Amino acid sequence: MYQKTDIPDIFLKIMNFIDSHTHAYMLSGRDLELMGLSGVNTAVLCSFVPVAKYAETLMDHFTELDTVHRARLSEYGITAHIFVGIHPRCIPEEWRRLLPIIGECIEAGKAKGIGEIGLEKANETEIEVLKEQLILAREYDVPVIVHIPMQNRAKITDKILSMANEVGMDLGKLVVDHTDDDTIDLINEANAVPGLSVKPGLLTPEKIATNIDKYRNGLLNSDCASLTNTDPLAVPKTARHLMKAGIEKAIVERLSNRNAQNILKG
Ligand SMILES: [Zn+2]
Repeated sequence: MYQKTDIPDIFLKIMNFIDSHTHAYMLSGRDLELMGLSGVNTAVLCSFVPVAKYAETLMDHFTELDTVHRARLSEYGITAHIFVGIHPRCIPEEWRRLLPIIGECIEAGKAKGIGEIGLEKANETEIEVLKEQLILAREYDVPVIVHIPMQNRAKITDKILSMANEVGMDLGKLVVDHTDDDTIDLINEANAVPGLSVKPGLLTPEKIATNIDKYRNGLLNSDCASLTNTDPLAVPKTARHLMKAGIEKAIVERLSNRNAQNILKG
């Protein structure tokens, strides 16, 4: 039987979560409503379309995020922060044409940062595309959200960190997302920001609680998208688990709100 005392403190006093990496533009109204009601009042929308042969596909997608989905999320009480970029899994043939467009989105205040970018197979084209976008991040002094794949994770994380160093960007603005026990030390040692995607096959609330000292500088997120088996409520559920596991409230607040706020404020 449900008892009032079972409600962790954080749900009575905070109810103010930031989901720092989503594709919530793919979600149903029902899912967005549940996110809003669960206290997710800010969500980062990372650009991604599964197929983008033409640069125009991503140009339209960037516009759609700003003009359609920002308003749609706000109907459910969620403030959207938009990140635009070229994901390694959907690199158009004429991808270079997108670089000035990404810059324009930032200058016009439509995008807060660059993402989701990163490496999947780490081939020559992907490396070139990532490098140009890291240079843009340095020029505009904005945060980036970088994807690491499910294979060769430590090696690819290492590659991304050294590329960010080589272009001279602020590693405090480099969120390396989809981290897990295999990559967290590399990211912490480089003074980059760990993105903590809580989703099947990756990080779990239990792993975070067990190694809280390693994960305390991270940004919790769901990476939710209708194309994958993800949970739009991953952030509030993880916060609840951490509170129940006895993690200090201030640390839970940092993971589920403050750390992301620091990245997004610039
Ligand atoms: Zn993603």
